[in-house]
Amino acid sequence: MRMMSAGTKGSGAERFDVERIRAQFPVLSVQVNGKPLVYLDNAASAQMPQRVIDRIVRYQSREHSNIHRAVHYLSELATAEYEAARRKVQSFINAPSDKECIFTSGTTDAINLVMHGYGRRFVQAGDEIIVSAIEHHANIVPWQMLCEERGAKLRVIPVSDAGELSFEAFQALLGPRVRLVALTHVSNALGTVVPIRDYIDAAHAHGIPVLIDGAQAAPHIPVDVQALGCDFYAFSGHKMCGPTGIGVLYGRAEWLEKMQPFKGGGDMILSVSFEKTTYNTIPFKFEAGTPPIMAAIALGEALDYLREIGLDTIARREHDLLAYATEGVSAIRGIRIIGTAERKAAVLSMVMEGIHPHDLGTLLNEDGVAVRTGHHCAQPVMTRFRVPATARASFAFYNTFEEVDALVASLERAKTVFGVA
Ligand code: PMP
Repeated sequence: MRMMSAGTKGSGAERFDVERIRAQFPVLSVQVNGKPLVYLDNAASAQMPQRVIDRIVRYQSREHSNIHRAVHYLSELATAEYEAARRKVQSFINAPSDKECIFTSGTTDAINLVMHGYGRRFVQAGDEIIVSAIEHHANIVPWQMLCEERGAKLRVIPVSDAGELSFEAFQALLGPRVRLVALTHVSNALGTVVPIRDYIDAAHAHGIPVLIDGAQAAPHIPVDVQALGCDFYAFSGHKMCGPTGIGVLYGRAEWLEKMQPFKGGGDMILSVSFEKTTYNTIPFKFEAGTPPIMAAIALGEALDYLREIGLDTIARREHDLLAYATEGVSAIRGIRIIGTAERKAAVLSMVMEGIHPHDLGTLLNEDGVAVRTGHHCAQPVMTRFRVPATARASFAFYNTFEEVDALVASLERAKTVFGVA
């Protein structure tokens, strides 16, 4: 392993038994091109520990049935497990009530739910919605669609060269026409951790509700929606050691009660006649049709797993990995790190002079190193930083310092292969 400057590895690193943790993730022993997989694409999707896989197998082999609709043994069991998963979500984000935790198919679905349920109800011509310059497309496009439909305007908080949002510019945007602030907690393209508490307080001082896109935060830092005071908080299961197809929208009951359902169908109703339908209570009003039962239960298991390791421990470990990687990558001449905010989550976006990120990603893959290349569904960020794309390494607690060394070695090899000085 490289020599590190004092403190780079951090005090928590030595106490963290990473080999014990890694042994719980079957995929981490996969070989790629004859080399050990170095999985550094965690911001796109994290991997699943055996215990979550086992929970899926147990559900599918012994517990599966449709929920909420029958009195037989399996249906009651599956219903109890599904609702227990909801309570695990509630406790994970410290929501006041499980009724405020809606299962969705992911962050994108959750934001679209708010766009339809809140946006269509409360946003009129001439109104404004504030987003930031570092949003994922999932927190831009739905608001753009709404603005187009309603004749409303999208306002954008600018970002500095380091990747930090301007709080002063945000304050200047707040006003009587603003109906919603939709803001990311952590940028997936830059790693910036936004001090959202300040933004939420400032918006609330104007009576404006705030939606937080927590897709990149919930897996990596402790989230307490009551302490944050946000009105909505969205995240995805597949980024937190759970399966795809499941996500969560936390919403304050006072808003959820006023919102129109996004989708109509079974389970979201109390009674239906051809004259009139009465909607179910929250959260069921927003969960039309058969939900992803297995995925919700598996997410509950994943949340138990993350809590047992501890979100503070995870945050510390990933901080240490990021610091070590930043030091190693910064030492390579010709590489520019995009996103150098003071507070960052474990995302390292980079461009190498003279090599297109896709070519770089392909070469790293030859060494078994998995990074994401492209615009990361954040094209406005690419435009702002005047790059077509970046190569992004994103770390999870199960990554090692040796894997960071492998990344750095592979980047060095790329320079030689492509003949870049
Ligand atoms: N927001 C952010 C910040 C993200 O990183 C992602 C996933 N890349 C999303 C939203 C969308 O999440 P999903 O695809 O799970 O809906």
